[in-house]
Amino acid sequence: MSVSHLTKQFSALDVNAKKANQPSGPTRPIGHIKTPSQSSVGKLLAKYAAPNPPATKPAAPKTAGAESSQAASRPGPKTIDIGKYDGGLELENEKRGEKVTGEAAEDLALDSSVARKSPTREWNLTTFDIGRPLGKGKFGRVYMVRTKCEPRYILALKTLYKSEIVQARVEKQIRREIEIQQNLRHPHVLRLYGYFHDEKRIFLMLEFAGKGELYKQLSKHGSFSERRSSRYIDQMADALAYLHSKHVIHRDIKPENLLLGINGELKIADFGWSVHAPGNRRMTLCGTLDYLPPEMVEGKEHNERVDLWALGVLTYEFLVGSPPFEDRSSTQATYRRIAKVDLKVPSHVSPEARDLITKLLKYDPQQRLLLSEVRTHPWIVKYRPKDVSRGSG
Ligand code: ATP
Ligand code: MG
Repeated sequence: MSVSHLTKQFSALDVNAKKANQPSGPTRPIGHIKTPSQSSVGKLLAKYAAPNPPATKPAAPKTAGAESSQAASRPGPKTIDIGKYDGGLELENEKRGEKVTGEAAEDLALDSSVARKSPTREWNLTTFDIGRPLGKGKFGRVYMVRTKCEPRYILALKTLYKSEIVQARVEKQIRREIEIQQNLRHPHVLRLYGYFHDEKRIFLMLEFAGKGELYKQLSKHGSFSERRSSRYIDQMADALAYLHSKHVIHRDIKPENLLLGINGELKIADFGWSVHAPGNRRMTLCGTLDYLPPEMVEGKEHNERVDLWALGVLTYEFLVGSPPFEDRSSTQATYRRIAKVDLKVPSHVSPEARDLITKLLKYDPQQRLLLSEVRTHPWIVKYRPKDVSRGSG
C-alpha cells in the first residue's frame, strides 16, 4: 500500500466538531483496506499506526508480556507491541515544572477540541495506553501510545513542560508551531492529530514515526548512497512544495528535524522556526549555522527560498556526511564560507548530484532552482520508482 493511499485515509483522526460529542475514541474512517498477509512488526505497524485504520478485527496478541500492565489488562487487539511503559510521565511530573500563571498560562492553554479552525474531540491522558519511551525533547519526553478505544491507533505523545517553555520565552513560538502543524496534511510532513494540556504540561498527539530519526541513520552510515539521497530529496521537495503552497516556510531544515516513517519514508517534523510567509523578520540565530543561507547570515530579508538553500545543504550532507560550509574553528568562519558560497564538492559525488547541489546553493535566492525544477531534475528522476507520483516513495 502506498503512502499516498494512506493519506487518503487521513480523515481517520480528523474528528471534527460534529463528532465531538461521541463518547468513544476516534471515529472509524470509512474506506476499505485489503488485509495483506503480514508477519513483521513493521508491516503491522504500518497497518495500525494512525492514520491507517485497521479494516478487520486484528488477530489475537502475539505477545502481551512486553506491554504495560495497563495495556495488557485491556481486552481487544494487542497485535502491536507498544513496549513497556516506564512510569516516566508520572515520575517526571512530580519533580519537573511548576504551574504557570497569567498571560503565559492563557497562551499555553492549548486544546485542539476548542480550536477555531478544525476542532477535534476532547482528549486527555486517559485516552491512551502508554508504551515505551521514544525519546527526550527539549521540554519533555515522547512516548509511544495507543488509543484505548477502537480502532486503537498508534501515536507518539510528546509532552512539553509549560514552565520551561515560559523560561525559554517561546510561548508564542510553540503556539504558532502547534497551530501551523495541525493544519498540515501531507505524507511527508509529520502529522499533528490533536493536543491537550493539564496544569503543568502540553501534550501533542503526533504521527508515530516508526523508524525514528534520520539523523541517527546518517550517523550510523556516515553518508547515504546516491539512490537513497535522491529519494529523500525528492520527498523533501514534495513536502516543501506543499508547505510553500500553504505559505509556510520551514526555515529549519536539517537532518535532526527529519523523522522516518515505518516504511522508511521521510517526515518533516519540528516546526519551531516555521513562519507564515511573508515573514521577513530578523531572527535570533541559534543552534547550527550550517543550514543558514547567505541572506540570513547577513541579516537581510528572506523568503521561502531559504528552504531551497537548505535543501542544497541537505543534499550535500546526505552524500558527503557533513554539511558543505562547516568550519569547526569558529561560527565566524562558517558565516564567511556561507556568504562566499565557498563550496567544494568531493569527486565521489556524481555529476548529476553536483549539478543539483550547485543550482540550489546560489547566493542570489532568485537564481536557486525552484522546487518544481528539483522534482524534474535528472538526478531525482533517475532514481524515482515508476509508480511514484506525488507524495509517495
Ligand atoms: P530536540 O531539540 O532534542 O530535538 P525536541 O523538543 O525537538 O528536542 P523531538 O526531537 O520532537 O523533541 O523529540 C525528541 C525525540 O523523541 C526525537 O529525537 C525522536 O527520537 C523521538 N520522537 C519525537 N517525535 C517522534 C515521533 N513522532 N515518532 C517517533 N519518535 C519520535
Ligand atoms: Mg527535535
